[in-house]
Amino acid sequence: MDRRHLLKNSLALGGVFGLGGCAATPVPPAPPAPQPVSTPPLMDRPPVLAAVRAHPDRFFDFKVCLRPFRTKGPNLDVEQIGDAMVVHNYGHGGSGWSLSWGSAEMAVQKALVRSPREIAVIGSGIVGLTSAITAQRAGAQVTIYTRELLPRTRSVRANGSWTPDSRIALTSEAPANFGDTWEQMARISWKNFRPYLGMAGNPIAFADHYYLTDAPRGTPQPVDATVPPLPPPSWTGAPTSGEDFAKYSDRIRDITSHPQVLTPDINPFPVKYASRSTNLFFNFTEYGHLLTTEFFARGGKIVMRDFHSPAELAHLPQKVVINCPGFAARDWWKDKAMVPVRGQTGWLIPQPEVNYGLTYRNVQILSKSDGIMVIALENGELKGYNNSDESVNRAESERAVKVIEDLFARFPVNPA
Ligand SMILES: Cc1cc2nc3c(=O)[nH]c(=O)nc-3n(C[C@H](O)[C@H](O)[C@H](O)COP(=O)(O)OP(=O)(O)OC[C@H]3O[C@@H](n4cnc5c(N)ncnc54)[C@H](O)[C@@H]3O)c2cc1C
Repeated sequence: MDRRHLLKNSLALGGVFGLGGCAATPVPPAPPAPQPVSTPPLMDRPPVLAAVRAHPDRFFDFKVCLRPFRTKGPNLDVEQIGDAMVVHNYGHGGSGWSLSWGSAEMAVQKALVRSPREIAVIGSGIVGLTSAITAQRAGAQVTIYTRELLPRTRSVRANGSWTPDSRIALTSEAPANFGDTWEQMARISWKNFRPYLGMAGNPIAFADHYYLTDAPRGTPQPVDATVPPLPPPSWTGAPTSGEDFAKYSDRIRDITSHPQVLTPDINPFPVKYASRSTNLFFNFTEYGHLLTTEFFARGGKIVMRDFHSPAELAHLPQKVVINCPGFAARDWWKDKAMVPVRGQTGWLIPQPEVNYGLTYRNVQILSKSDGIMVIALENGELKGYNNSDESVNRAESERAVKVIEDLFARFPVNPA
């Protein structure tokens, strides 16, 4: 208690006692009974959140990528090219990082039918690398043939969260049993991530993600008039709403985090409605480094090569090939079910003290070891559909970061 406070209190007390000294003392009213204060359970109280330094001048990188979306779901078919057996493993849309191990397991099982000693893998994106390692773990000698190594592939231009049913198929075109295949892939992958948790550099980690809305979730949100409406689809068969994309995540609710609604007393943001879930995500640099190291440690070889026609695969020394070319399958394999879905991420200078992500007004951010990723989400899953423009649109990322900058500007300067 400071001197002024003491003085004030003693003055007040002195007044009461002083009066008491010269007149009959009235009985003071009983102080009100203390009200029980309802404090949220310790585990639900909001953590102290480090502020994201969200300014356009902190962008140090932008990445654009095409999701290898296949309207019928990933291709895992087997085909014969000359005397080579080719097992396809491409077309994982916005779910390639998430489903990679499960899809690899399925492709390798098909490849092993021939009991090959040697296997060729085409491509060294996340699907190629996990296929190669899975084949090695099963005892095969593996050579990867690829045009680019992982750091230059489309895979590392992704967002990189556990999103196993993001743009994975169209409901109208997915095979009837695809839901079962998908569930198997998702569960196998989930188990395979386990050994990478807690490793130095956090190749795979969990982070809280906050979903912030100005109106209750699930009701129409205020519209941002600066965002132009999506042009009508350019071909029949194109999805017209997010509903057209196949969704399976209800099948694996037992292994993923359930969103928790944050009541006002535990909502740390200056936004009316908030919920939180804890999501798994990938730090590409560390995870990619670990996978590549394991591939070489198991005796894997990499040959830099650019294929131009499927017939070239028949001339490889390996007679069993797992084909993981990602979106390139559209032109190389003339796969008409492949549709590009453009996505752009902007990267703010890393802030290791920020250990969460959030989604607000169609902008998503996620703090990763190599930067804070900023992504514009307007029009949900339809954004970027059938758009193969891989050039950077800086204005898109700048508009997105402004939303986050405005959000943090609304925090009280001197929180109580
Ligand atoms: C913006 C964005 C966000 C995303 N976010 C997520 C997410 O949060 N979670 C998630 O799970 N997934 C996400 N994805 C999807 C994910 O990135 C892809 O599904 C995945 O990277 C596909 O991997 P891939 O190995 O099949 O393809 P790629 O990474 O494209 O690899 C293909 C490989 O094949 C090689 N290749 C191709 N053609 C030839 C040829 N002719 N000759 C020789 N080699 C060739 C390439 O060099 C490369 O090595 C996102 C994608 C985008 C665009």
